[in-house]
Amino acid sequence: MSNPPPPHNRRGFRLTIICALPLEAENVQSVFDICWEDEDIQCGKAEGDQNAYSTGMVARHNVVLAHMPSMGNNSASAVAAGLRSSFPEVKLVVIVGICGVVPFHATTQQEIILGDVIISTAVVQYDFVRQYPENFQRKRHIEKIWEELPLRFAHLSKEVPSAKYPGTSRDHLYEASYLHRHQTDAGLTCDMCNDNLVPCPKTCADLECGQDMIIRRDRLNLQEVLGPEGIPDHVPIIHFGRFGSANMVMKSGVDRDRIAKVDELIAFEMESAGVWDQYPTLVIKAACDSADSHKSKNWQDYAAVAAAACLKAFLKE
Ligand SMILES: [Zn+2]
Ligand SMILES: [Zn+2]
Repeated sequence: MSNPPPPHNRRGFRLTIICALPLEAENVQSVFDICWEDEDIQCGKAEGDQNAYSTGMVARHNVVLAHMPSMGNNSASAVAAGLRSSFPEVKLVVIVGICGVVPFHATTQQEIILGDVIISTAVVQYDFVRQYPENFQRKRHIEKIWEELPLRFAHLSKEVPSAKYPGTSRDHLYEASYLHRHQTDAGLTCDMCNDNLVPCPKTCADLECGQDMIIRRDRLNLQEVLGPEGIPDHVPIIHFGRFGSANMVMKSGVDRDRIAKVDELIAFEMESAGVWDQYPTLVIKAACDSADSHKSKNWQDYAAVAAAACLKAFLKE
């Protein structure tokens, strides 16, 4: 089956993927079947549009990938505005990348482990109340409530050939109220622990966060048993549910559980609320941390690959 022809111009694109981080965009580009720029097809952009784009084909869909200059809903909103001027026929935006997760799904009760993929059924902007006058109702459960998609993701792992699963022994979920030791031990606290955008550079292993505070999860034990040659395999599960979106990283287990309970959230990210009021928006993000003070960068590579693989599987369906 030959590929459809390249688009005649920018009006030939109906689907956009937005990535906040270069790592996310690189992995999305790696699942492109064709990159139009490599074929010397330059689509350009409208005058005044500050966005950077890559164009290509994924599973017979022409897609334009928009690269965000920085994380967060404000940046995402600006990217969506530029997108409209350059690619006026876009009908759907898919935000692809990595996210923090709630360890247990609010409705299915399923364990969500690192590397799993979350597909949005709705987005709740949970910091809305901080940006507007008091008593202003937060936007709740807005935008598309997607039907649970009848997707078959058995082939998802086939799309993740090169990604190296970091291992169940590095997937630590701590009691929600147990803080990363940088935040509790006098003299150890670092600026990054207090920063709401970046994780602490010291890992839980570096700081010897308490082993007795780790919450046991059945899926991790199971995978350890099943793994060949002592290397645990990970078969990502796709969970459908609500994302919480805000201009800051969720770095508190207690806040995570409290906010997740109110709005039945299963994951946290920082871009979708900037896009959803401009475009029908779907979020496909994979779990790279548990949205608590113990977050590290160990899982970002694997999660970015899993999300890109899920995007491709989704477009194939
Ligand atoms: Zn820790
Ligand atoms: Zn720290």
